[in-house]
Amino acid sequence: MATALITGSSRGIGAAIALRLAEDGYDIALNDISEAMFEDNDIIDKIKAQGVMCESFVADVSSYDQCEQMVKDVKAKLGTIDVLVNNAGITRDGLLARMSEESFDSVIAVNQKSVFNMTKFVGSVMMKQRSGRIINLSSVAGLWGNPGQFNYSASKAAIIGMTKTVAKELGSRGITCNAVAPGFIKTPMTDKLTEAQKENILRMIAMRRYGTVEEIAGVVSFLASKDASYVTGQVIEISGGLSM
Ligand code: NAD
Repeated sequence: MATALITGSSRGIGAAIALRLAEDGYDIALNDISEAMFEDNDIIDKIKAQGVMCESFVADVSSYDQCEQMVKDVKAKLGTIDVLVNNAGITRDGLLARMSEESFDSVIAVNQKSVFNMTKFVGSVMMKQRSGRIINLSSVAGLWGNPGQFNYSASKAAIIGMTKTVAKELGSRGITCNAVAPGFIKTPMTDKLTEAQKENILRMIAMRRYGTVEEIAGVVSFLASKDASYVTGQVIEISGGLSM
């Protein structure tokens, strides 16, 4: 049985990806930053109801040491890692002129350094087995920039560079690496936007609606599937036509 590890997967897009990959038949390694994220949360039961194994692993993905330990723990409990989804992410929005150093550093650490940490340790597992799929969560902010998101856009643009580099470094070992760049998806992250911000955003989206977490999970499922075996180094925008 193949195993998928999804970071930041107790809720939101990560939880939807985990559930979809469980439906596809993968054993699932969930991750989040604290045990509390898995309390009063039915995601583990929903995944197990698909007839696959599911374990949760608490680790801060911005920590190199915690990522190394988590990868060892996932291998010990679930055997191997065939799919890695680098999903964990945070926002600390604010205009550049007012952005604190802490806001910049924390977003880079969680969104960008985590991809280095996880890809290094999981990549080594995948290189030994000479197969693997790595799927990174970028964002339209990384492709096109977004006022108020200097830190977030920087981290999500960096993910595109890392995705293409990993695709080139690991392609000969049977490993693909792709990114998805969601637009505005209804999750706790976007619930934080003001009504005025939400209205402005809807006007820019060709489909005039937010995306759903399932619509992101479907594309990730495709990238993890046999049908995407010759797709690597690509960024798929999932935004309802936001950027045209
Ligand atoms: P969310 O806030 O609902 O979920 C993010 C998850 O990551 C949470 O469970 C959180 O606890 C976890 N997390 C945060 N820091 C962590 C850390 N240091 N270690 C481990 N886990 C950590 O957000 P979401 O909307 O589901 O976003 C998921 C991903 O999709 C993010 O990378 C985000 O940038 C990206 N994205 C989201 C949207 C959107 O519209 N929601 C758009 C584009 C990209």
